[in-house]
Amino acid sequence: MIQKVLIANRGEIALRIVRACRELGIKTTAVYSTADEQSLHVQLADEAICIGPQASIDSYLKADRIISAAEIADVDAIHPGYGFLSENAAFAEKCASCKIKFIGPSPAVIRSMGDKAMGRETAMKAKAPIIPGSDGPIDNEREALETAKKIGFPVIIKAVAGGGGKGMRLAHNAVAFGREFNAARTEAEKAFGNGSVYIEKYIQEPRHIEFQILADQHGKVLHLGERDCSIQRRHQKLIEEAPSPFLTADLRNRMGKAAIRIAESCGYENAGTIEFLVDKDGNFFFIEMNTRIQVEHGVTEEVTGIDIVKWQLRIASGDRLDFNQKDVKILRHAIECRINAEDPTRNFCPCPGEIGLYYPPGGHGVRVDSHCYGGYRIPPYYDSMIAKLITFGHTREIAMDRMNRALGEYLIRGIHTTAPFCRAIMSDPVFRSGQATTKFIEDFLVRTSKDSFQHDKPKHL
Ligand code: ADP
Repeated sequence: MIQKVLIANRGEIALRIVRACRELGIKTTAVYSTADEQSLHVQLADEAICIGPQASIDSYLKADRIISAAEIADVDAIHPGYGFLSENAAFAEKCASCKIKFIGPSPAVIRSMGDKAMGRETAMKAKAPIIPGSDGPIDNEREALETAKKIGFPVIIKAVAGGGGKGMRLAHNAVAFGREFNAARTEAEKAFGNGSVYIEKYIQEPRHIEFQILADQHGKVLHLGERDCSIQRRHQKLIEEAPSPFLTADLRNRMGKAAIRIAESCGYENAGTIEFLVDKDGNFFFIEMNTRIQVEHGVTEEVTGIDIVKWQLRIASGDRLDFNQKDVKILRHAIECRINAEDPTRNFCPCPGEIGLYYPPGGHGVRVDSHCYGGYRIPPYYDSMIAKLITFGHTREIAMDRMNRALGEYLIRGIHTTAPFCRAIMSDPVFRSGQATTKFIEDFLVRTSKDSFQHDKPKHL
């Protein structure tokens, strides 16, 4: 069994990993930038090593410093969390060459899935449906336009190295195509150091439905059901839930089987997610595989009762998955709201700063994953997500009403957050009906007054 783990990440996910390790009796080493000295993940790990200044490029993305820290701390394994180096095959290789277990799949698998265009090929080989699109990346504008015409407008231009909705542009017609194609390439080059793009048919008003995979080192691959992540702003998830209100038992079964086939076909190991888009007629298409833990994994944990992060550590230690597909049960409904330090009344502009009073919600069916506390200063250098609030109950109605109640209780003073915005969604008739697609937020913003995105102050404070 792994005895000691270095956590190559920050914030709530680093804390989540500390907690899983502690329950398994595994020692933890946190790493942090100078901006994160006060973060809870640093306070709660067994030890912590400073790896550089604020900018991620000089700290959390510095593979050599992280490996040096791992050698000084004498750990057996590195957990990369999500973002940063989590899908970096060269980093996974470096870990292997230093005899440190990278908690995730092999570098070869990361390579075959980390690049979206290669992921499409892998899915195709596994006979999973993919969205009609170009065969691999296209870097020549004229050739790209010809391909787009063949596919039929609207098309979406995507960075092969993309993530977090960056480097993705929609083109409605041939006139707009050139501008969007070049914009996607420039954005991708800037964000990922790789301007390569490919083209896909744009699916109108789809749902984003993804399957959680667990695969051990002994060839067993299981799925833990789906998450519906259709509530997105600018292609970035804001609210996730499970089970999906759209899936029938038959569609769930077929999609789950396709997800397992894809994971098996690339020799997957550890936790991963297969993402699909589903159109209004129930046709589903693979879009990408994330070869790491995801932000929204907690939704699946609350629905199935399976601790995914603990299984990541156990799988990396060589343990066998000790249950079968038929044992995975959807026990309840869960919803997650991402609480971001952003002002929804001012176009979601980030608002880092010092949190004054902090009072997280609690009670039956509520889980809060956050590294924040009263007096904590949110640094401006990283992602704006500061907490994940998950509520669960026997029915979707209970989970939604509980979320409404919990968001109303959540006090985070001193900064603006997306909590009141998420709360307004909880009572929206379209969301409540379970009919929302990825276009939901765009429409919701048009028909809803910004005044409803502000927190009403509790009387006693
Ligand atoms: P990223 O890795 O940047 O998050 P994804 O490929 O996972 O990018 O896509 C993010 C979101 O963008 C999807 O959930 C969906 O809302 C939208 N999207 C991506 N591809 C398409 C497509 N072909 N048609 C319609 N929407 C798409």
